[in-house]
Amino acid sequence: RQEKFQRIYELYNAAQKLYTHILLNTTAGEQALRYLLKERELDEETIKKYGLGFVPSNNVLLSYAREHDVDEPTMKAAELFLERDGELVRDRFNNRVVWPIKNERGQVVGFSGRSLDPDNPAKYMNSPESPFFNKGKLLYNLDLAKGPIRAGQPAMIFEGFMDVISAAMAGAEGAVATMGTALTEDHVRSLAKLTERIILVYDGDAAGQKAAKRSIPLIKTVAPKVEIGVIALADNRDPDEVRRELGLPALKQALEQSTQTPTEYLFNAAKLGKNLQNQAQYLDFLKEVWPILADASPVEQDYFLQKLAEEYGSSMEALRSEFEDYQRRHP
Ligand code: ATP
Ligand code: MN
Ligand code: MN
Ligand code: MN
Repeated sequence: RQEKFQRIYELYNAAQKLYTHILLNTTAGEQALRYLLKERELDEETIKKYGLGFVPSNNVLLSYAREHDVDEPTMKAAELFLERDGELVRDRFNNRVVWPIKNERGQVVGFSGRSLDPDNPAKYMNSPESPFFNKGKLLYNLDLAKGPIRAGQPAMIFEGFMDVISAAMAGAEGAVATMGTALTEDHVRSLAKLTERIILVYDGDAAGQKAAKRSIPLIKTVAPKVEIGVIALADNRDPDEVRRELGLPALKQALEQSTQTPTEYLFNAAKLGKNLQNQAQYLDFLKEVWPILADASPVEQDYFLQKLAEEYGSSMEALRSEFEDYQRRHP
């Protein structure tokens, strides 16, 4: 069993090396390399650091594995090929730029591939779930982020691979990402083993806000000692877009200086899309605020009640009485 696993890890490793070689050194990889250098604004050093590659459409890994006498069970278990009627017929990630996904120990356990065709409905494709590749447990880049997190950098959770790479370019080396799945208890546990500070940096769009609203209570429940921070990016941008559109210093600034507490973040998120000068919308906003405050510390409750009084002219007494009323109804 041990030996069988070893052979599979070796195949993953060979695949990563082969795909990187094709990207950097062959004409088959030229278009993908141009995409990564020009459109995604990466450099060769970064491409090598993260082991990015390109999978051409000529089944190069399939040929490689056969030439090197890799046994059939290993090839099937690795899930790097598509099968038809039990026969291995082609490389799974054909025609995609690939990011190797590594486990915490730094072993390659699968890939995520991005199509260069903007019309392809499956923008990203991951290795299928297997004993090696479990999206609910794996965090992209945890192998590289672990050391810096242990050394005191906050763990920062992003949505995408490019966001992690952009964050690391901006000096945030504790960056990890979930891979198109919601944050799980296992993800939180593996970070809470390393640090007591976790910062959520989701895309600045509706999906990102939804993810933050869901992840905050999850972290509070699974790791009550962890101090949570949230970074909200403006204008629907994700961190990688901030780097490319506003520049690396703008991303660095956002990551270093705009962390909000969960209460602040949720309070501000409740304001979005509402005209608070309008009486009905202001009352709706208050209804959203009470459960947020009910979850906050007494000092935070005081702070935000005062803020409401100052900004919207309700009296402290009225606000406090409504909030206490909410708390009585939701013990
Ligand atoms: P890019 O910057 O390359 O366009 P992204 O990382 O900004 O991609 P999002 O659309 O924000 O992509 O999605 C966040 C993450 O969700 C991706 O990094 C990827 O892991 C996952 N994802 C997105 N689309 C898909 C898909 N069609 N299938 C599987 N996973 C996906
Ligand atoms: Mn998104
Ligand atoms: Mn994104
Ligand atoms: Mn993006």
